[in-house]
Amino acid sequence: MIEKNTTQREAEMRRDIIQDDDDVPLEEEPGGSQTSEEDVAKQPSAVSFFYKRFFPESGPADHQNWKWQTRNSIKDLKQLTEIFTLTDDEVSAFSNSGVSLPVRITPYYASLFYGKGYDNPLRKTMIPRKDELIVSFGESGDPLCEDHMTPVPNIVHRYPDRVLFLATEFCGAYCRYCTRHRLVGQDHDEFRFNALSWDLGIKYIESHTEIRDVIISGGDPLTLDDFKINILLSRLRAIPHVEIIRIGTKVPAVLPQRITPRLIDILKNYHPLFMSLHFTHPDEITPETSHACKQLADAGIPLGSQTVLLKGINNDYHVLKDLYHKLLKIRVRPYYLYQCDPVEGSAHFRTPVQEGLDIMAHLRGFTSGYAVPTYVIDAPGGGGKIPILPEYVEGRDNDYVYLRNFEKKVFKYPDPSHKTD
Ligand code: SF4
Repeated sequence: MIEKNTTQREAEMRRDIIQDDDDVPLEEEPGGSQTSEEDVAKQPSAVSFFYKRFFPESGPADHQNWKWQTRNSIKDLKQLTEIFTLTDDEVSAFSNSGVSLPVRITPYYASLFYGKGYDNPLRKTMIPRKDELIVSFGESGDPLCEDHMTPVPNIVHRYPDRVLFLATEFCGAYCRYCTRHRLVGQDHDEFRFNALSWDLGIKYIESHTEIRDVIISGGDPLTLDDFKINILLSRLRAIPHVEIIRIGTKVPAVLPQRITPRLIDILKNYHPLFMSLHFTHPDEITPETSHACKQLADAGIPLGSQTVLLKGINNDYHVLKDLYHKLLKIRVRPYYLYQCDPVEGSAHFRTPVQEGLDIMAHLRGFTSGYAVPTYVIDAPGGGGKIPILPEYVEGRDNDYVYLRNFEKKVFKYPDPSHKTD
C-alpha cells in the first residue's frame, strides 16, 4: 500500500535538491528486484560472463537491482577502456575539453553490446566519437528553442493544451544524439531540479486551465526514486483540469530493473497515465525489457514507442520493421519515428529526410498498421512536430481523386466536386 500522506516527507524534500548527479539513489531497495531467481538463471551466458568478468564482487541479485545498476554505471574513459577496446576515434572524443554530454551506461546495457565490435548499433549510441565534437551547418545547442518556451523553470509550453514538465536532468544512460544535450547530465543554475522549481512548474500548470495534458520528461523521470515520483504524480493528479499524464522514459531499454512491483503500485494510482518509451534498435528487446513492459502494460498503462532515426544504427527498414514487430509483441505501439534533431555534434547521426520517407514507404502496406509509426520532424525554431508522409495522392480530375497504393498502383476514388445549385 502506498503511503499517500506525505506531508512531512514532502516538507523535508522541499529543503533538498530533487536530484543531481551525486544524488543517485544508493540505498538498497527491499523487494525491489523485479525478476525471480529463475529469471536470473535464464540470463544469456554472455551477459553472465560480462558481469562475472567486470563486476566479480556482484551477484545475480545485484544485477537485477536498479540501484546497483545505477551506482555501477560506466561513466568515464578509464572505465570504458577497462571494458571495451576503444578505437582512436572513440578515445579522441575525450581529448581536450571532451564532449559536453557526460557518459553514463548501465552495466546491463553495456552487456548488450560488449564484445560485438566498434560498429555495433547500441555502442554507437552510447560511446562518444570524435564527430560529436564537430558543430555542423544548421546545428544548435537548443534546436527546438525549448529555452524560449520556458515560462518557469522545468516547464516547456509549446502547444496550446499541453506542457512538458522537465522533472530531472538525470538519465539511466546518456544517448549521444540527445536533443537536450544542453540540459541532461549538466549542472546549470537555471535548471536546478529542486523542489522549488517543481513547485513553480506545478503552480504554472494550476494557473493555466487550458493545460489538459502533462508530459513528464527530463532527463528520465523514472530515475527518480519512488517517493519523488509519487509526490510529483499526486500533485499533478490533484489539478482538476489535468486530464492525462504522460511519462517519457528510456528506462525500460537501459535500466529495465527499475520497473519494480513497488513502482508499479505507485504508477497505477494515477490513471489515465500513458508512457512513451524510447527505443532505438531491436537488440534492446531483451527478456528483461519484455518483462518490464509486461508489468507496465498489466498495470493498464498504454505504452507507445519513440524512436530517433539514426544513421548506421536503425536507418534501414528491415531493422525498424524488426524493432516494431518486437515492440508490438511486448505490447508497445510504435508511436513516433523522429528525424534526428540538429543538435550540436549530431551530423554523424542524421540521415536525409528522403531516407526516412523511403523507410515509411516500405512499412505502410507491408506490415500491420499498428507497426507503422508517424514519421515527424520536430521543427527547428520551436515549430512543433510536423508529420511527413510519402506522397500517396497522385492528383485529381473533376470527380475523382487518384491515389497510389503501397504497390505503386494507381486507383480512382469517386469524389464529385461540390456543385452549388
Ligand atoms: S534518455 Fe532521453 S533525455 Fe536521456 S539522454 Fe537519452 S534521449 Fe536524452
